[in-house]
Amino acid sequence: MKAHDGIYLDGAWRPAASRDVIEVVDPADERVIAQVPAGGAEDVDAAVRAARAALPAWAATPPAERAARLAALRDVLAARKDEIAETVTAELGSPLAFSQAVHAAVPIAVAASYADLAARHPFEEQVGNSTVLHEPVGVVAAITPWNYPLHQIVAKVAPALAAGCTVVLKPAEDTPLTAQLFAEAVHEAGVPAGVFNLVTGLGPVAGQALAEHPGVDLVSFTGSTAVGRRIAAVAGAAIKKVALELGGKSANVILPSADLARAVNVGVANVMSNSGQTCSAWTRMLVHRDRYDEAVTLAAAAAAKYADRIGPLVNAAQRDRVRGYIEKGVAEGARLVAGGPESPRERGWFVAPTVFADVTPDMTIAQEEIFGPVLSILRYEDEEDALRIANGTVYGLAGAVWAGEEPEAVAFARRMDTGQVDINGGRFNPLAPFGGYKQSGVGRELGAHGLAEYLQTKSLQF
Ligand code: NAD
Repeated sequence: MKAHDGIYLDGAWRPAASRDVIEVVDPADERVIAQVPAGGAEDVDAAVRAARAALPAWAATPPAERAARLAALRDVLAARKDEIAETVTAELGSPLAFSQAVHAAVPIAVAASYADLAARHPFEEQVGNSTVLHEPVGVVAAITPWNYPLHQIVAKVAPALAAGCTVVLKPAEDTPLTAQLFAEAVHEAGVPAGVFNLVTGLGPVAGQALAEHPGVDLVSFTGSTAVGRRIAAVAGAAIKKVALELGGKSANVILPSADLARAVNVGVANVMSNSGQTCSAWTRMLVHRDRYDEAVTLAAAAAAKYADRIGPLVNAAQRDRVRGYIEKGVAEGARLVAGGPESPRERGWFVAPTVFADVTPDMTIAQEEIFGPVLSILRYEDEEDALRIANGTVYGLAGAVWAGEEPEAVAFARRMDTGQVDINGGRFNPLAPFGGYKQSGVGRELGAHGLAEYLQTKSLQF
């Protein structure tokens, strides 16, 4: 796999001050495929300085020109979509078809949406005797995870550039090659030097130095709740703005009137896609007691179909973590109806598609984010019970409701404490705000709401 041995700083690939490196491993066969620099505090400092220096000119660039650069970025990503898919498959392990259909395609759609929004957004408005200016927040630290490596980068960098902010990106250590490819695309798109900078490196070293850097105005973080809490504390101490997209434990609520087979099949597909490494996955399926046994049989059969199709988990630690949760589920009395903790293959960090029945709301597997291909099926007595269970975790990122008629599902969805709900299998919308209630996060990404995160207001009174 192609890799740069430098960091992308002020418009060029330059040697990192740090001599440390990160080895990139293919999770499907455990082979080292590349190495990239593990940047240190000095590299982060250089990148933040470059972003600060580029800020005044980029912030003053007319929105139409910023939109033109984003349209060019979209075109480069589209032209290089096969390379993107191959790179994500190599370092994340997702099957190539999924990498093409999701990991490569969604970021192109998101970049396109911000090319459009940058051109159309009202960066000035009249409020009575005031003119309100929507100005860029400043230098953005973007810290991203590995599970949707390009999507999470584009969901931060595109709105930041549309707003007139400049950016330093610290991508996840497991997927730096996708981030390097993105930096090449930004360069090809003609974005001016210093507007976007990339420092690959370790979270507790480069990530922490970036979050703490006094030259950063906004920290936009996607990742685990544990790290998000630390970042919020660091940002809070410095009164920096912060946006957090964190973990989830979403509920898939199947009301008695629903098409059960469809709801179960789509629900299982949702949990197994990307090997369960999706923050918004519907990992708790809630079924009425009268239809429970039927749902369990359907789910076990559906999960078995993924046995040969599922990719590995991203690394050995994630694989071990997920297997630990499966063992805990068994120990706490849940009933395994598909999969289990045994490795299904000799090499690679694979976990079998796993389904648990007889899961109760207090069990660890019903409360904690597992981040693997593991579905828990819970039984409810009536709608109030279903709502209590659905809302009964510290998370609130996403969810689903199924019912015979849409209004019934919508009435239930209105009472859920969560940021997104798919009604009867509703489609992903790259313009709809995405983000969490409760401990799933602070702020929103995507569309106009995502753009607003990178703007601050100034009121002129007349
Ligand atoms: P993580 O929190 O370990 O790492 C995320 C990023 O933070 C990485 O770039 C990492 O290097 C960096 N980091 C780690 N320690 C740091 C520190 N002390 N200071 C600064 N940066 C640091 O998460 P992960 O394991 O890469 O990703 C999985 C998690 O991300 C899951 O919990 C998942 O739910 C969450 N996630 C949330 C969303 C969302 O939109 N809400 C989307 C995807 C993933």
